[in-house]
Amino acid sequence: NLGLVWFRSDLRVLDNPALYHASQQCSQVIGVYLLFPRQWRLQHDSNNKLYFWMQNLKALENELGRLNIPLIIAPAESFNKAPATLLKLAEKFTIPSLWLNDEYGVYEQQRDDDTERLFRQKNIPCHRYHQQTLFIPGTLRNMQGQYFKVFTPFKRSLFQRITPEQLQPLPAPEKQAPLPLEYTNPESLEQHFPATARNIDDHWPAGEAVAHNRLNTFLVNTIEQYHNQRDFPAIAGTSSLSPWLTAGTLSVRQCFHQALQANNGELDTGNPGITTWLGELIWREFYKHILYGFPRVSRHRAFKPETERLTWRNDPTLLKAWQTGETGFPLVDAAMRQLTSTGWMHNRLRMVTAMFLSKNLLLDWRLGEQFFMEHLIDGDLAANNGGWQWSASTGTDAAPYFRMFNPTSQSEKFDSEGAFIRQWLPELAHLDNRRIHAPYQKNSQLALSYPPPVVNHSDSRQRVMEAFKALKSQL
Ligand code: FAD
Repeated sequence: NLGLVWFRSDLRVLDNPALYHASQQCSQVIGVYLLFPRQWRLQHDSNNKLYFWMQNLKALENELGRLNIPLIIAPAESFNKAPATLLKLAEKFTIPSLWLNDEYGVYEQQRDDDTERLFRQKNIPCHRYHQQTLFIPGTLRNMQGQYFKVFTPFKRSLFQRITPEQLQPLPAPEKQAPLPLEYTNPESLEQHFPATARNIDDHWPAGEAVAHNRLNTFLVNTIEQYHNQRDFPAIAGTSSLSPWLTAGTLSVRQCFHQALQANNGELDTGNPGITTWLGELIWREFYKHILYGFPRVSRHRAFKPETERLTWRNDPTLLKAWQTGETGFPLVDAAMRQLTSTGWMHNRLRMVTAMFLSKNLLLDWRLGEQFFMEHLIDGDLAANNGGWQWSASTGTDAAPYFRMFNPTSQSEKFDSEGAFIRQWLPELAHLDNRRIHAPYQKNSQLALSYPPPVVNHSDSRQRVMEAFKALKSQL
């Protein structure tokens, strides 16, 4: 009575429902991971992320090895090859059941439904579990039975319905008897995905043990000041756990459970640092529910359909300036250089750079969304698309389209001493704390090896407001 456990974005042995239940109900289990290089390219997954995932896969193989659970790593190219590849393996090793944790993108669901259908035709049951979110997407709805479209009532409803049992992480499966398999996994997988970020192994080491250490250190040292510090990019005031959460090396339930314990079980009272952090985990949850409830966002359509008629500008030179960190707006440029150098960007700066591209430059948010995916180590369709559409006012922002950051004021407010800018733009390091935010503001003739601003903020603000207003008048 063997069970085949298919790992995807759940690269862990702890709190893994498919693995846990398979090991409870089968005499022995075998793990499998499919490689989808063509699909990953189509989805613009970055080499930083794929390199990190391959390292986490190696760590998972070791963890499973300690439990005598073999892990098969099999090439499948694209999602449409998954059902046949898995069936071949199930038949080769005579495995009568398949176990997996659901994923919520449109193409992932289609892949899993196709797999389940093929397995059922062969009388092999497919057991599907839920682990990516606290609530199964679709199970939190408003009074009218509809999906929430804005965050705050979604969060309120989640807080009302969540139970302690739901938050109890599952243990790792017990060690099973050795199960030798005749199968050779490809070696040095990470070499197929040469990371573009610097020192990736030092910044983002792989594995469950590392993720838990980071979570614990954050809970002990940082979380209590999270509400005060999380918006300042020069301070390590956030958890930087997103790469592990995206790879599923760590589960949201583990994070929520431990943070809640640190807050004596209080969801929205108690330590403000902890409650604010719980709220951020719920943003992650919210966007996954949106992805599931509004499949058009998986297809890169606007969440607010009426905004599809916005006329974006076509300007490859401006796009390039944004991508390379040469817009002449120091905070924007420093942020873009952080992204391309490390594969990660601070949340405040993701909002600043996304609004700058979509509003100041009036370039299509999809161009920015794609560029982020091509570099982010934590690239996640739900959060990235959600964040981009929120910033571009085509998405779930409850505020109207006229919410627009001024990149210079953001810089003065959140990097007042220019520490973050100095780290990423050494060419501006000698400027004083006032001038560093807008070097040419008082002196357009300044001799600097740094470009002048590519747009004027108030002119560009007026232009985007008119574009949105025109949209309204067409309705
Ligand atoms: P913390 O502040 O410690 O928060 C803890 C966790 O909560 C994060 O790891 C993340 O899983 C979740 N979280 C926090 N804020 C958000 C949010 N606004 N939306 C969704 N989840 C959130 N996050 C990704 O994981 N992948 C992405 O591809 C991604 N793209 C983004 C694009 C844009 C334009 C914007 C505005 C935000 C994006 N985010 C994305 C959300 C957020 O910026 C990152 O999750 C956060 O910066 C990660 O840092 P952290 O782990 O230190 O977060």
